[in-house]
Amino acid sequence: MQNILNYINGEFLEPQSQEWLDNYEPSSGKVYSKIPNSDERDIALAVKAAENAFPNWSKTTIEERSSILQRISESILENLEILVIAEAKDNGKPESLARAVDIPRAASNFKFFSQAITQFSTNAHESVGLNAVNYTLRKPLGVVGCISPWNLPLYLFTWKIAPALVSGNCVVAKPSEVTPMTAYLLSNICHNAGLPKGVLNIVHGLGTTTGQAIIEHPNVKAISFTGGTATGEHIARTAAPMFKKLSLELGGKNPNLIFADCDYDRMLETTVRSSFANQGQICLCGSRIFVEASIYDKFKTDFVNKVSQLNVGHPSSKDTNVGALVSKPHLEKVFSYIEKAETYGGKILTGGNKVTVKGYEDGYYLEPTVIEVSSNDCKLNQEEIFGPVVTLMPFKTEEEALQLANGVRYGLAATIWTNNLNRTMRLSSEIEAGIVWVNTWMMRDLRTPFGGMKDSGVGREGGFEALRFFTCLLYTSPSPRDLS
Ligand code: NDP
Repeated sequence: MQNILNYINGEFLEPQSQEWLDNYEPSSGKVYSKIPNSDERDIALAVKAAENAFPNWSKTTIEERSSILQRISESILENLEILVIAEAKDNGKPESLARAVDIPRAASNFKFFSQAITQFSTNAHESVGLNAVNYTLRKPLGVVGCISPWNLPLYLFTWKIAPALVSGNCVVAKPSEVTPMTAYLLSNICHNAGLPKGVLNIVHGLGTTTGQAIIEHPNVKAISFTGGTATGEHIARTAAPMFKKLSLELGGKNPNLIFADCDYDRMLETTVRSSFANQGQICLCGSRIFVEASIYDKFKTDFVNKVSQLNVGHPSSKDTNVGALVSKPHLEKVFSYIEKAETYGGKILTGGNKVTVKGYEDGYYLEPTVIEVSSNDCKLNQEEIFGPVVTLMPFKTEEEALQLANGVRYGLAATIWTNNLNRTMRLSSEIEAGIVWVNTWMMRDLRTPFGGMKDSGVGREGGFEALRFFTCLLYTSPSPRDLS
């Protein structure tokens, strides 16, 4: 059985505790590798290594950092198939999805930030009449912590570490203990790409011990975190008294507003995808579907028909649309909402059962499930289920649709389907969400800011926003006398 190792100071190390955690393959329910159960001693080593590496790394030229990131990006693509199979095995997602989205995006993250840094600049402010020029500089923060979740493992892990590294920081990173494999493979890739020792340290283990040790460490200057809202709250409470810089990308309960005047076929096809891609385990999935009353019955019939045709199966099968959920506890959590659907006022229209896949009887499979609800206040519409479960509900007017969309504690993303330009403009400025898609879903340009409102988090990632987060802004005002 393969042992995953920590990557600290350019070396592959066993945990100080000599304790190991089981790593499960969701598609078979079997343990297939062991993960270091790291604790504060491993984090202390990693932070020390990062501190030692910082003076040199922060002074390397932009070109040097950029070219190392470029090499990492190329190496991810050269190893695409290995990473695809590893991601699908570790997470349960269809290999086809990892091949089309997760791994290419990890490569793009490094490539994008290798280029973005060459265009990142600061400002000068001339004090006219005083014969003075004030200028700003952006300096790396030092040692930063990056903590990522299990749903898009390599995609979100690299989305954080690429901007952190390229702007001159040294990193202590922890992937989710549920999906550590591609982060481990990445440590090899970064090592071989010539990243100096100590610049990137990847430590594996539980959130409550390894993650906790990162957020508590006084010398970690910033935390970039993606995960659940409750964990985000905990991190904020722990880190705020130490004045750490925080970027928190948290949960979502995203509305899909479907108006009768939309391009129906395109909407239907995309809505199936936005509901069930990655087994519904994407923070951006549209989990609350609101449909204009005049097309509600038609949509309900067509949507249920399409969803019931989705194939639940093993990640390696070409026919699989929906793979396995990420873990047994997560399967049980999602299933508990389905079991109580009626108590919560819902009616299951399709799905609702666990699935047994031949040859993989202990895997964590669940039918894509559509539940009709009559109120937006029910638990099914208010709590993040984060699985292949969506709710349907009709609305009569645009005002009602807006109220339903905003009637939730989260504010990550929203999708509007309409061909009415004025409505698009009105709604997209009134919906409380960091990202609004119109007649599309999950369209991403890496230059755009990404992040949520309300309980979906604080801060923005992406483009120059990420480089701003990972740098400290200094202002210098030389005295005019000194210049003369
Ligand atoms: P969690 O919050 O449980 O975990 C996220 C990461 O934090 C994991 O690496 C976890 O480690 C770690 N962690 C847990 N406890 C602590 C702690 N006390 N200190 C430091 N780190 C800790 O989220 P999930 O992994 O369950 O991911 C699903 C959630 O992520 C959903 O709510 C989803 O909406 C959200 N998400 C948000 C996105 C966004 O961009 N807004 C994008 C993707 C997902 P471990 O797993 O080892 O316990």
